[in-house]
Amino acid sequence: MARKALITGVTGQDGAYLAQLLLSKGYEVAGIVRRSSHSQVSDHRLKWLGVAKDVKMVDGNLIDLSSLIRIVREERPDEIYNLGAQSFVQSSWQQPLLTANVTAVGVNNLLEAMRLEAGNARFYQASSSEMYGLVQHPIQSETTPFYPRSPYAVAKLYGHWITVNYRESFGLHASSGILFNHESPLRGLEFVTRKVTQGVANIALGRAKELRLGNIQAKRDWGHARDYVRAMWLMLQQDKAEDYVIATGRTTTVEDMCKIAFRHVGLNINEHLVIDPALFRPAEVDLLLGDPSKAKRAFGWVPETSLEEMIVEMVEADLAALRSVQG
Ligand code: GDP
Repeated sequence: MARKALITGVTGQDGAYLAQLLLSKGYEVAGIVRRSSHSQVSDHRLKWLGVAKDVKMVDGNLIDLSSLIRIVREERPDEIYNLGAQSFVQSSWQQPLLTANVTAVGVNNLLEAMRLEAGNARFYQASSSEMYGLVQHPIQSETTPFYPRSPYAVAKLYGHWITVNYRESFGLHASSGILFNHESPLRGLEFVTRKVTQGVANIALGRAKELRLGNIQAKRDWGHARDYVRAMWLMLQQDKAEDYVIATGRTTTVEDMCKIAFRHVGLNINEHLVIDPALFRPAEVDLLLGDPSKAKRAFGWVPETSLEEMIVEMVEADLAALRSVQG
C-alpha cells in the first residue's frame, strides 16, 4: 500500500517541491486548497514541476476546523505537512488578525483534526527563522530564544509551540522544522530574491530600467527550497519527533545577493538599483544565520545548492519566462 501524504499550502513553493519529492518516492499526495468564488486554484507551480495532475486537490481551509476533520477522516494520511500560511511578513502588518487566524490558530486546527481522526499519523509544522527576529545569539539554533518582530512571526511562534505542546501533551509524532529563508524559481514575487531575479531579467531584456528595494543591508541565510523539502520529509522518517533548524550556515546581505543576479547578466548594480524608503519595514530582522548541525547529525541533511547557483537558476528561469511572454 502506498503511503499517503496530506499537504496544506500545496500550491505554494514548498508545497509544489514537496509534492514532487513525495510522488517520486511513491506516495499518494493530497493537497488542501482554499477555494474562493472568483479564482481558479492556482496550480501553476505544480504544473511547472510537471506534477499537477498527480496531486489530488481537496477543498478545505485552515481556519475551518470541520473541513480539516472531514479531510483527515476521508484521506487517512500517514503524514501531514502543514505548509499553509499567510506567509508574507510585510502583509502581516496590514492583516494581523487574518495572519493570526491562519498562521497560528490554523496549526492548532490541523493538530486537532489529526489528534481526533489520525492520532498515529506524523505531523510536520513549517516554522520559520523569522521567529528569532531580534536575534538573541549571532548564530541561531534550536535552543536560541525567540524574539518575533512582526505579526507573522508572532503567529509562527504560536504554531511552533502548539506543535511542541501537542507532542508533549498527547504523544503525537509532531515535528517543527525551523526553516531559514528558502527560495527557487517558484518563489512568490513579493519576496526579495524573486523580486530581484525577475527585476534583473526585465532590465536585461530592456523592459525596465530600475529595481526598487528597501533595506539592502538586511542579512539572510538563503537556501534552495528543493533541498529544504527533503529535510521536511527526513524529519518525519525519524523514530522520534523533534524540532530542527534547517539552514545553510552562511549569511549574505540583500545587496550582495543582488550583485550575484546583476553580475550574471553583465549589468552594473549601481546603474539600476534605487533605494525606496517606502519599502522599509516597521520593524526589521537585521540578521539571520542558522546552525543546521542537529539535522546533519540526526539524519545527514546538508544543503546541496549554493546561493550563487540558486540565484543564477532563478535569473535564467525569469529570463526564459519573460522571453516566452514576448512570444
Ligand atoms: P523575510 O525574511 O521572510 O521577510 O523574506 P523577504 O524576502 O520578504 O525579505 C528579506 C529581507 O529583504 C528583509 O530584511 C527585507 O526588509 C529586505 N528587503 C529589502 N527590499 C525589499 C523588497 O523590496 N521586498 C522584500 N520582500 N524585501 C526587501
